[in-house]
Amino acid sequence: MDTLRQEALQACAAQFAVIDAVSLYNTEKVLAAYRKAQVSAYQFAGTSGYGYSDLGREKLAEVFAAVFKAEKALVRPHFVSGTHALATVLCALLQQGDMLISLVGAPYDTMQGVIGHARPSRHSLKERGVRYKEVPLKDNAYDLQAIRGAVAADKPKVVLLQRSRGYSSRASLTIDDLRKIIAAVKKESPETICFVDNCYGEFAATEEPLEAGADIIAGSLIKNPGGGIAPTGGYIAGRADLVDCAADYLTAPGLGSELGSYAGGYRLFFQGFFMAPHVTAQAIKGAVFAAAVFERLGFAVSPSVAAPRCDLIQTIALQNEGNMRLFCQGIQSFSPVDAHVTPIPDAMPGYADKIIMAAGDFVQGSSIELSADGPIREPYLIYLQGGIVLEHNILAVLAAAQYICEKGGGAR
Ligand SMILES: *Cc1c(COP(=O)(O)O)cnc(C)c1O
Repeated sequence: MDTLRQEALQACAAQFAVIDAVSLYNTEKVLAAYRKAQVSAYQFAGTSGYGYSDLGREKLAEVFAAVFKAEKALVRPHFVSGTHALATVLCALLQQGDMLISLVGAPYDTMQGVIGHARPSRHSLKERGVRYKEVPLKDNAYDLQAIRGAVAADKPKVVLLQRSRGYSSRASLTIDDLRKIIAAVKKESPETICFVDNCYGEFAATEEPLEAGADIIAGSLIKNPGGGIAPTGGYIAGRADLVDCAADYLTAPGLGSELGSYAGGYRLFFQGFFMAPHVTAQAIKGAVFAAAVFERLGFAVSPSVAAPRCDLIQTIALQNEGNMRLFCQGIQSFSPVDAHVTPIPDAMPGYADKIIMAAGDFVQGSSIELSADGPIREPYLIYLQGGIVLEHNILAVLAAAQYICEKGGGAR
C-alpha cells in the first residue's frame, strides 16, 4: 500500500498544482470580500425574534454577493437543504402557464420532485400549472443546437442549468460551457432567466456562474461554501430583483429579506465560507487521488486523473456488488464518526435499485465531508465525494483499496 500511495501521489502532482492555484486565487477573492466588508467578531452574535437589522445576516449576504459577483445574496440557515434553496427560486419565479426548460438533460433527483415531471408530487411546479421540458443530452453531453432550438421555439421564462453532473454519468459543466450555453439562450430569448444549480461547483474554478452570464444561482451550505463547518443552510445569489422574489417566497410577500433571526450565531458560516476555497480543494484533491489509486488497480474511473475538475464527484466502476460493499466498508471504517458501523445495501424511497452508502460526518448528511454511495446495478459505479482534510481521503481511499485487493474480485 505504501508503494501504491507513493505512485498515486506522484501521478497527482500536476493536477494538485492546478487545484492549489485555484484555491489560492479563490482564497484571495474571499479574503478581499471580508476585508472590504469590514467583517468583525461582533457580527457573529446570535439574534432572536424578527431579526430586524441582524448584522450577521446582512454581512454574510454581503460577502457572498461580493465573492459570487452578485447584486444581492440571500444566505440563510433557514434553508433546510440545497433543494430548498433551489426550489425557492423556481417557485418564486414561475407562475401558472410559465415554462421551465432543463437544458442539460434531467436535473438532480430531488429536483424532479420539485418539478413533478418524472413522478407526481404534491405542490410541485407541474401541479401549479408550470409547463416543463428537458433538452436531452447528445452523446452524454449538452446539445447546443437542440438548446438553441428549444429556447427559440418556447421562449421559456426560466432555464435550469445544473453545473455538477450530480449522480449522472455526463461530464460536469465548466464555466466556459455555461458561458456558451447562456450566450446562446440570451441570443434566442433575451428575457429568459438563466438559473444555475451551483451545488458542488462552488470554488472548483476561478469564476462562478454569474460571471458567465447566469442571472441567479443557488446552492447548499453543507457542501462547498460551508467549508465543512457551517451547520446547515443554503444560499441564493444573483440579480437583485430575482433574489428579492425568492426572499418573498422564503418568508412572505412584503417581508422579503428584511427578516429572519438565528440564535445560534453566524461565526461558523463566516469561518466556513472563508475556509471554503481550501476545503473544496482538499475534497477535489481527494477525488483525484482516488482516481489515481483505482486506475492503478485496473478499474475505470471518471473523471481521469488529468481531466479538468469542475466539481467534487469521482466515480469508480467497481465491477460487482462485492467490491462496492468492500469499498464502502473501507471508507466507513476510516471515518472519524461512526467508524464502527458496517454499510449494507438497502432500498431507498425514490430509487429502483438498492443503494449502499458510507459516511461518517460531523454535520449530518454533509457531502463536503467524505462519503461514498451508489446504486447496486451495472456498471457498479461508486460515487465518491468530499473530504475536508486530504490526509483523511488518502487514508480512507487506501483502506478501501486494501479491502478490495485482499477480499475482492475483478481488476488486477
Ligand atoms: C446536492 C445537490 C442538490 C441538492 O441536494 P440537497 O441534498 O437538498 O442539498 C441539487 N443539485 C445538485 C447537483 C446537488 O449536488
